[in-house]
Amino acid sequence: MKVPFSPPRMDQKMADAVVDTLFSGWITTGPKTKLLEDNLSLYTGGKATVCLNSATAGLELALRWFGVKEGDEVILPAYTYCATANVVLHCGARPVLVDVSEDFNIDVDQIKKAITPHTKVIMPVDIAGMPVDYDAIYKLINDPEIKAKFRADSDEQKKLGRIMVLADAAHSIGATYKGRKSGVLADMSSFSFHAVKNLPTAEGGAVIINLPDIFDSAAVQKQLKTKSLHGQNKDALEKTKVGGWRYDIVEPGYKCNMTDIQAALGLVELERYDADMLVKRRQIFDAYTKKLEKYDWAELPEYDSEDKKSCYHIYMLRIKGVTEAQRDQIIQYISDEEVAVNVHFQPLPLLTAYKNYGYKMNDYPVSWDNYSREITLPVFYDISNEQINWVIDALVRGVEKTLA
Ligand SMILES: *Cc1c(COP(=O)(O)O)cnc(C)c1O
Repeated sequence: MKVPFSPPRMDQKMADAVVDTLFSGWITTGPKTKLLEDNLSLYTGGKATVCLNSATAGLELALRWFGVKEGDEVILPAYTYCATANVVLHCGARPVLVDVSEDFNIDVDQIKKAITPHTKVIMPVDIAGMPVDYDAIYKLINDPEIKAKFRADSDEQKKLGRIMVLADAAHSIGATYKGRKSGVLADMSSFSFHAVKNLPTAEGGAVIINLPDIFDSAAVQKQLKTKSLHGQNKDALEKTKVGGWRYDIVEPGYKCNMTDIQAALGLVELERYDADMLVKRRQIFDAYTKKLEKYDWAELPEYDSEDKKSCYHIYMLRIKGVTEAQRDQIIQYISDEEVAVNVHFQPLPLLTAYKNYGYKMNDYPVSWDNYSREITLPVFYDISNEQINWVIDALVRGVEKTLA
C-alpha cells in the first residue's frame, strides 16, 4: 500500500475559491489577501498581520525592519530548516547556533551563554508545532544584566531597548502556550503556508506583529508591506484605480507579496482549521502514539503538556539506542514498503553551506543525537486507518529487522 508523506488536503471548496478569484477581476495582492490578514489577526490575537509569499520572506523582512546588519548576531537553534539561518546571512549578520534540548526545541540555558553585545535577535523555532518556552526566553532578555549589554543601533532597536524575539513559527499556527496562540508568543512570528505545512496555500506565509504598545502596529504593518513590494508607497490595487497612477519608491524594497489566489486557499482552510484540520491531525497523532506505546524502542513525541498544545504538524519519532546508519536502514525498509517518511531536520552543521562557515556538528551533541535517531511519520488530512496501520507495520518490521 502506498502512503505519501503529506499531500495537501484539497476539495471542491478550495477549487471553487480559486476559480472565483481567477474570474473576480483581481488575482494578485488585493481584497482576499487583506481579509486573510484581518482573519489571521483575529485568529491569533495579533495586533496586525502581513501576508507574504513565504515564511522565509517574513523572517527576513522582520530582521531588516529591526535593522539587523553586518556585525550583528542572531541566535537560533542548530536544529532547524536552513531558512532560519539563511535570512540572517542575507542581512550580513552572523547566525549564532545553539544546541536544542531533548524536546527538539532551543535550549534556553544555551541561549544565555551565547548572548553578546552584538546579539540583536533570538529566533526560536516551534519544532513540529510545539511552542518553545517563551516565558523563559522573555525572562532572560528582560534580565537587567542582559538588557544592559544590548547595544541599540537603529531607531527600532532604541525603541525596543532589548533583544527582539522573532519566532520561526513556520510549523506552529494553531498551537498554544499557556493558553495563548502562536503568533502572540513573540514580538513577531512568521507562519508558513507552504504546500507541506498545516495550512497550505501552495507557497505563502504571514508575519504576525505583536510588539509592545510603544510601537504603532498599523505603522509597522505598513512598513513591512512597503518592503514587500519594492518600497512602493501604494499597493497594486490602489495604483490601478482610476486616477491613482502616481506613486513613490521610498526605499529599494523586495518583492515577496502574497497573491489573492493564495489568500483564497488560506481563507477556506483558516475558517475550518481548529474544528476540522487540527481535530483530524490530533486523531492521527493519537493513533500513532497508541500503537507505538508498547514498543520499548519507540521514543514518542510529546504534543500535549500542561503549558503547551501542539498543532500536530509533524510526528517526530525517535528510535532508542540506534546509530545514524541503523536509522537510515530502518528508513530503507520502510521505503521498500512504499511508505514515505522523512527526517526533520539535518542539523545545519551537517550541510555544506554551514560547514563552509565553520560550524561543527560536534558542538551540538543533543542536536546530533536527536537527528541520528529521528524518523518523521506521514501525517495528512486524508490518511486512512488502513494507511496508518500500514505505516506502523512497515516501521515495526523495519526496526525489528534492523535490531535483530
Ligand atoms: C518550512 C519552514 C520554513 C520556511 O517556510 P517557507 O514558507 O517555505 O518559507 C522555515 N522554517 C522552518 C522550521 C520550516 O519548516
